[in-house]
Amino acid sequence: MLQIDCPWCGRRDEDEFTCGGQSHIERPALGCSDEQWGDYLFARINPKGLSLERWRHTYGCRQWFNMARDTVSHRILAIYGMTDPVPVLPEARA
Ligand SMILES: [Zn+2]
Repeated sequence: MLQIDCPWCGRRDEDEFTCGGQSHIERPALGCSDEQWGDYLFARINPKGLSLERWRHTYGCRQWFNMARDTVSHRILAIYGMTDPVPVLPEARA
């Protein structure tokens, strides 16, 4: 089981958290095409290696945060705020 460091509560078991999917998805501008809007709503990457994801401490403080995780090893590379830029990460599989 993963142990996740909530920025507000500290280390907790993975069972307390919910993954909200891919993070850093940019909303297209008004007047975008149907294809762009469809991609925004439904298209997600499924990387083998570095994955940038939104997580919520559902059964704790209920706060959202971002996580950089290696999907092969499940190693957590960074945890950072929802509005923070992607931090410089240690080596991860691309
Ligand atoms: Zn928390």
